Amino acid sequence: MSPTTSAEVFAHAQSVIPGGVNSPVRAFGAVGGTPLFVASASGAHVTDVDGRTYVDLVGSWGPALLGHARPEVVAAVQEAASRGLGFGAPTTTEVELVDEIRYRVPAAESVRLVSTGTEATMTALRLARAFTGRDLVVKFAGCYHGHVDALLAQAGSGVATLALPDSAGVSTATAAETIVVPYNDVDALETVFVAHGDRIAAVVTEAAPANMGVVPPLPGFNAALRRITLEHGALLVQDEVLTGFRVGYSGWWGLEGLREGWAPDLFTFGKVIGGGLPVAAVGGRRDVMAQLAPSGPVYQAGTLSGNPVATAAGLATLRLADAGVYATVDAASARLRGAVTTALAAEGVPHAVQWAGNLFSIMFGAEAATNGAQDYATVLSTESFRYAPFFHALLEAGVYAPPSPYEAWFVSAAHDDEALGAIEAALPQAARAASQA
Ligand code: PMP
Repeated sequence: MSPTTSAEVFAHAQSVIPGGVNSPVRAFGAVGGTPLFVASASGAHVTDVDGRTYVDLVGSWGPALLGHARPEVVAAVQEAASRGLGFGAPTTTEVELVDEIRYRVPAAESVRLVSTGTEATMTALRLARAFTGRDLVVKFAGCYHGHVDALLAQAGSGVATLALPDSAGVSTATAAETIVVPYNDVDALETVFVAHGDRIAAVVTEAAPANMGVVPPLPGFNAALRRITLEHGALLVQDEVLTGFRVGYSGWWGLEGLREGWAPDLFTFGKVIGGGLPVAAVGGRRDVMAQLAPSGPVYQAGTLSGNPVATAAGLATLRLADAGVYATVDAASARLRGAVTTALAAEGVPHAVQWAGNLFSIMFGAEAATNGAQDYATVLSTESFRYAPFFHALLEAGVYAPPSPYEAWFVSAAHDDEALGAIEAALPQAARAASQA
């Protein structure tokens, strides 16, 4: 008989797939227990193979801005699929998707579509190195940019969840070309540039970090990155794979750079721009992007890049993601943040709900409650052990929160009063579990 429960599928999966999953955070490593094997998802809900339905706060780790399986998006995918699944030749849809991205983020003057965020940041680095003729790259501790060799040092996301130091298999030479600086620390960055400024190709940063839990940039931090990189002739790469078109119509840049009148040299995007299918992008200054083959000498390619079905999903998603959608998601996020704080306060659990736009996460402990966490070292010193019982109490009550304290909670436009009410109803019990940890 073929396996029918999540536990049965997971047991088999572990014998044929490393760790039983195709991306580490899915394995419930930080919270223990059996991952849900999802059978279907619709709106604000996911249903597992055991037949249980949960209010979903993972949102496919970001893409599900509109909620799952929004009918117009599914229809666009079906229509595209009916015309063929992929051609390895250019299509109109991918140009339309790039136009939509550029309309929202005009500083992305020229855009190349790829399939994953990892490819996007990897390409951004190669471009920066070629354009500047320099080798060193600066990243911030706790920021995650995909599993690019050069960017795995002190990375967040699954690397933090599994308490891995960095990654094995990255050559010493590659690791030596990456300089890691504490997040939100302008002085530390200045010091690095004083020492190595003429060898630094790029500073890569999450526009607003959400892979070490949510750690918003302090006011002026991103602008300082812009100033320092300009002073030293390095490029600024703003990774908006997660924030792009999720925290607002023009991503994090729309909340900050657009208002302040500056832009990074390169952006990376992903997640929402594929609407749940594999699409990501690197875009930015026309002169830098022109270095990419075939117009320039920097090689980059992809059999599935700009895939017609995937780009149809992304285009339909972005076209539906109007100001009303962002207002709805922002309001849902604010309501949930308030509910989390109310529930935890009622149980006397010291904590901070840290947020950036509509992304948020919970940091436990008195230190976080008092001062918040502005860098990775502080995040790692929080009482993250309270998260597993909190998570499992929510799961038991039918709420699927991210299975790691270091990931953001993703709400969607489909999180209506009923879905939010179900989460609110589950929170007191979860807060009690957190207090007893
Ligand atoms: N950058 C950021 C900010 C991300 O959050 C992620 C994925 N969570 C990536 C890059 C990598 O994207 P992908 O998983 O599509 O390779």
